[in-house]
Amino acid sequence: MSHLATVDTLPPTTTRSEAPMTTSFSQRIIDWYQQHGRKHLPWQQDKTPYRVWISEIMLQQTQVATVIPYYQKFMHSYPDVVSLANAPQDEVLHHWTGLGYYARARNLHKAAKRIRDDFHGVFPETMEQVIALPGIGRSTAGAILSLALGQHQPILDGNVKRVLARHQAIDGWPGQAKVEQALWQLSEQRTPAIAVSAYNQAMMDMGANICTRSRPQCQLCPVAIDCLAQRAGRQTDYPGKKPKKQQPIKTTWMLILTQGMEAQLIKRPPTGIWGGLWCFPEFDSQAALQQFLLDNGLADSKQQPLDNFRHTFSHYHLDIHAIWVDNSANTAIETRVMEVNQCLWYNIQQPDKVGLAAATERLLEALSAHLVKE
Ligand code: SF4
Repeated sequence: MSHLATVDTLPPTTTRSEAPMTTSFSQRIIDWYQQHGRKHLPWQQDKTPYRVWISEIMLQQTQVATVIPYYQKFMHSYPDVVSLANAPQDEVLHHWTGLGYYARARNLHKAAKRIRDDFHGVFPETMEQVIALPGIGRSTAGAILSLALGQHQPILDGNVKRVLARHQAIDGWPGQAKVEQALWQLSEQRTPAIAVSAYNQAMMDMGANICTRSRPQCQLCPVAIDCLAQRAGRQTDYPGKKPKKQQPIKTTWMLILTQGMEAQLIKRPPTGIWGGLWCFPEFDSQAALQQFLLDNGLADSKQQPLDNFRHTFSHYHLDIHAIWVDNSANTAIETRVMEVNQCLWYNIQQPDKVGLAAATERLLEALSAHLVKE
């Protein structure tokens, strides 16, 4: 049975929007939002560009339910842009531990400093100024300016892309410039000049809750009646998928050096993978790790492998092997390692407030289980 037939034969009592086809796309979306949209999320209260900005950055790649406690804690510590700018980077990264994609936190911090220094601590209010800040693309800038200030700015985050691509059956992967351009054009055409904040919020909600990635709930959708993907029964074909590429697999060996309840961590360089976060020292091979132990008088210390695991980044898999070396009997090693790297002896029972890479957190948990057992 074709989906078009289903649309045409909807009974009058259908749960789908009762709005006639003549009602504009944006009006149907706004009407749906008034009835069903989320209006009580923490960042929807006392809306300011700063508060919307933090929420938009946290919500990139992360679900609302996960973001809420992080957002509340972040706002408690940094209620305004100047308090964020003045905080040490380690402390900001600590607030981000567990959210992943740490470049977001580093950019937030950089942008806050720029707002403090170049805009006297007041969040800028033009598209050109906002988009020039680190970590803010066109869609995020549009969201900040429309949601907080009601400016007529379109947005195009992942949720909005999905709704628009399906509704107009736009072929192709949105990572391609011409597909993205077509979607921006559509977003520009459909974003109303009035009630822009409700419309943009509604589109994000629609994509997150109705027009979902794998099981869109078209029976609840206010724009189903003229949705081309739904008519053709091809909802999940849009937006087009990224062409598949085999991800390379890399291997690393991590040294978990402990003294009593403390484990040695080193700080990563500010850019690159896990930039600015604290990690265990890494080696390219088991032989290199063993050589390091030999060179530092640790060859005779007690060694134990921890469980191997795979950590996946956006562009490769990293197979992590960890060797736990207990050096409680020989504290002289501390001075030698510290000469080479910025080092921290992290107390498992009284953790420092620093940003930890996800893999570090996982290994610390495994280590803690072993130390408690012993
Ligand atoms: S009808 Fe279905 S596929 Fe089309 S926009 Fe609505 S939820 Fe998405």
